[in-house]
Amino acid sequence: MKFFSLHNQSPKVNFQEAVIQGIAPDKGLYFPEKISPLPREFFENIEQFTNHEIAYQLIQQFVGDAINEKDLKAIILDTLNFDFPLIEIEKNIFSLELFHGPTMAFKDVGGRFMARCLSYFNKDNNNEVTVLVATSGDTGGAVASGFLDVKGVNVVILYPSGKVSDVQEKQLTTLGKNIKALEVEGTFDDCQKMVKTAFLDKEITNKIQLTSANSINIARWLPQMFYFAFAYKQLKNKQKEIVISIPSGNYGNICAGMMAKKLGLPIAHFIAATNANRVVPNYMETEKYTPMQSVATISNAMDVGDPSNFIRIQKIYDNNFNALKKDLSSYSFSDEETKEAMSEIYKNGGYIADPHGAVGYLGLKKYTKNKSEFQGIFLETAHPVKFLDVVESVIDKTIAFPEQIKAVIDKPKVTTFISSYDAMKQFLLK
Ligand SMILES: *Cc1c(COP(=O)(O)O)cnc(C)c1O
Repeated sequence: MKFFSLHNQSPKVNFQEAVIQGIAPDKGLYFPEKISPLPREFFENIEQFTNHEIAYQLIQQFVGDAINEKDLKAIILDTLNFDFPLIEIEKNIFSLELFHGPTMAFKDVGGRFMARCLSYFNKDNNNEVTVLVATSGDTGGAVASGFLDVKGVNVVILYPSGKVSDVQEKQLTTLGKNIKALEVEGTFDDCQKMVKTAFLDKEITNKIQLTSANSINIARWLPQMFYFAFAYKQLKNKQKEIVISIPSGNYGNICAGMMAKKLGLPIAHFIAATNANRVVPNYMETEKYTPMQSVATISNAMDVGDPSNFIRIQKIYDNNFNALKKDLSSYSFSDEETKEAMSEIYKNGGYIADPHGAVGYLGLKKYTKNKSEFQGIFLETAHPVKFLDVVESVIDKTIAFPEQIKAVIDKPKVTTFISSYDAMKQFLLK
């Protein structure tokens, strides 16, 4: 299996090269040359397979011969060591809980899978790779946890000072060892811009092999296909139409869902639900894609003004707007609406949603209003404890710390404060 750059100015590469490079030399995102649907029987009989078997089936064609069967199975086994429960919180409305991993947000799967792939590619050499990553909140923690102690890998995480939650900050600043955190004076977009500039900076790339662990990296992006199949496996009634709402920021997760659909997973419609950062909802209304400055919201992992994976979504639909529109609706919700939804969900059934899950729920409700023949799933992408202040004040109840959070919350934060690209560059080169 080969991957090509969506800018079309770079050579095709295999899975290993695409993972190590992160982004193509022409700065395009890598995309698989071919997507072959799986046999219908696989989906018809999905209950008979373990999650590990399902994951292997979904991802094998993309990995190709870069990792042999036995080792790929071992990587999957090690990556997926927690559950993905589907909870019916109202009639025909389900929450797919993706937060049972070590950092309690859905990015654990991609982070763990990518770390294990890089470690596998490094096993017979002494090459050093520096993973440079910008985070709006959860990527940093997932990457820090996934890559801790991985041989030959240094991790540098950029995050916007004061714009991530306390729990998120602790998760990315307290591990030490091969994990370094840069606290940036600015927004997530500033962090992302610095990372992108570094990849173009020969003075850096001549000295160190940089790679990205954002969802632009195919090893972070593609494993997210698994969730959609795990949800399908757990649905009792497979005849009814399935609608899935995904709280979206960089649009990697939803784009992975669309890949799963390409492989044959029967999903009738996707909803990209987001906060005030409404570039994609605007696009779906006007067919014009206009990046914006990101604005801060209570669902901070979606505070993205120029979602990097949107170009992959367009590619999946052959840049055909009408085809995309048939499969995708996109809505934006305010912080007020999000809080009201959290409160409503709690009052109706005692379920506690985090702000991202609540945005997903709102998207689902909006799309399915006046429809009766469907079952709807929203992705609950983070544990509510990660957004403690907001959640506790909305539902007026204290939330106990799970073990994963207790392990980091009292550790001292260690960061280097920077306010310019040059400061980051000096840090990388020293
Ligand atoms: C990263 C993240 C999102 C957005 O996911 P994308 O793949 O970037 O669209 C949503 N919710 C949470 C909790 C996240 O951490």
